[in-house]
Amino acid sequence: MSESSIDSLEKLYARRCHCGLNALNLTAWTDLNAGRRFYKCPRPKVTSCGYWEWQDKQQLPPRAVTVIVDLKGKLDVMKVERNKLKRIVDGMEKAERDNLEILFEEMKFISA
Ligand SMILES: [Zn+2]
Repeated sequence: MSESSIDSLEKLYARRCHCGLNALNLTAWTDLNAGRRFYKCPRPKVTSCGYWEWQDKQQLPPRAVTVIVDLKGKLDVMKVERNKLKRIVDGMEKAERDNLEILFEEMKFISA
């Protein structure tokens, strides 16, 4: 597919909200509609015109929703684990940096 036909497809599926702005095209993550795409007004909730519309008129097959919800749960667990490991690595890096600084100070003292 050429780039211009992708552009025209995007224009075909693009939506404008009641404000006349390009609507956001997002993915729902609720258990009932996981993975389903929708459009909404790009403004924050308090100033939004309230425009909101499903991209597709029907829900995904139940099996697809189950798989998406299961994978999303696993992804969330992985993110928590990744953040825990990142904190450990950050702590190790800081300790290593502190050790090197102490070593550097000792070497300066010895060579003085
Ligand atoms: Zn709007």
